[in-house]
Amino acid sequence: MPVERTLCIVKPDAVEKRKAGAILARIEEGGFKVVALRMARLSVREAEGFYAVHEARPFFGELVQFMTRSPVVIAVLEREGAVTVWRDLMGATDPAKAQSGTIRKQFGANVGENATHGSDSADNAGKEIAYFFPGVEVSPTA
Ligand code: GDP
Repeated sequence: MPVERTLCIVKPDAVEKRKAGAILARIEEGGFKVVALRMARLSVREAEGFYAVHEARPFFGELVQFMTRSPVVIAVLEREGAVTVWRDLMGATDPAKAQSGTIRKQFGANVGENATHGSDSADNAGKEIAYFFPGVEVSPTA
């Protein structure tokens, strides 16, 4: 697997529960290098832009409200196969359906408040990294 980068967001529910550190520890223990990191309170506009692909879904308003209600931690993660490995470590969208040992199983509350975000393809990872970290290279440099 090639070394690549993906975008991680520790969502408001997990930051509110003070689990951001525990989740970042799981990420590092999972062999990822954190190559960019920042905390932010997303504006409605930023959250709507980030989730624009879900605009027509019935839960869109609820999702934007959730993602903007308190700060998030946004990180760029690097390792071999980062996109797939991070999706596997997060687990299924619905924590109730996520495998044991996954981050969403451990820290997620429900299908909406599921602790973390991860890019679903290398292509989208590039776009998402550029959205939140315009100065960061999408491709690993070393
Ligand atoms: P992901 O790629 O696993 O994050 O899942 P999706 O791309 O399908 O959905 C994006 C995000 O929208 C999820 O991570 C949830 O936070 C939220 N979401 C998905 N389905 C629902 C739902 O049925 N209700 C609500 N309130 N939020 C949802």
